[in-house]
Amino acid sequence: MENIAAHKTTLELIKKYNFRIKKNYGQNFLTDTHVLEKILRAAQVSKDDTVIEIGPGLGGMTQFLCDTAKKVYAVEIDENLCEILKETLSGFENVEIINADILKTDIPALVNGKYKVIANLPYYISTPIIMSLLESGENLESITVMVQKEVGERLRANPKTKDYGSLSVAAQYYADIYLAANVPRNSFIPRPNVDSEVIRLTPRKPLVVVKDTAFMFKIVKAAFAQRRKTLVNCLFQAEILNLSKTDLADILADIGLPETVRGEELRIFEFAQISDRLSQLIN
Ligand code: SAM
Repeated sequence: MENIAAHKTTLELIKKYNFRIKKNYGQNFLTDTHVLEKILRAAQVSKDDTVIEIGPGLGGMTQFLCDTAKKVYAVEIDENLCEILKETLSGFENVEIINADILKTDIPALVNGKYKVIANLPYYISTPIIMSLLESGENLESITVMVQKEVGERLRANPKTKDYGSLSVAAQYYADIYLAANVPRNSFIPRPNVDSEVIRLTPRKPLVVVKDTAFMFKIVKAAFAQRRKTLVNCLFQAEILNLSKTDLADILADIGLPETVRGEELRIFEFAQISDRLSQLIN
């Protein structure tokens, strides 16, 4: 961020364009330049990189991404913001402003090659965005995003903790997750009701080999559907299976797990073992 003085701050941009904030699009603009710096550092963008910024807003961060990346695709749902972005970013030739809903955008098709995703995500859709990116294939190099603190904690959670759940298992199946910064709520305008954190997810080969990934995730979802119940009870009630509690307890015993075990105690490779055994039985 050598040329910070050359770029407009988000506050200056809000004032200049007299922009009316739309809460339904999760518009909490980042005003703290120290946090901006932390996101950029965590994302490790270089001149060889293609970057997708989700929800560039007024372009506060986009300007710096254009300075450091080879190419920037800025996907913004709000048409008014896209008009402002065209002006704010007019000095850059390596940016494409796309007026679209990120959830309806085929990102790999857009980029055609490796890419990094960077965003101060709109809170209302941060989980579906992250999961669909992680499932989007091998061209994704990293995701560096600001998320609500609670979501970050769930994504990073370890077994036997209150935050550990199906989201933790699914995200950690695909990626290593690193906490880059804690961000207080007064770093934004308007100020949200929650604190945030910046995390970086780096996709890698899944930690386990499982015969049917989709089926394993159904098991994981069922295992956490009623957190206080044992895994046997959760799986007994799940509509995907038609097995007695005794059958289920026998399967767990075979892989060295007690009948009383709960989903929150299981690591991904135990879910994979359970899933492989169950899929054999029901297919
Ligand atoms: N990047 C800006 C910043 O840090 O100041 C704005 C971040 S704000 C939390 C989220 C941004 O995402 C807003 O600009 C909002 O209009 C945009 N947005 C919300 N839903 C979106 C969607 N489905 N697809 C693309 N952009 C979206």
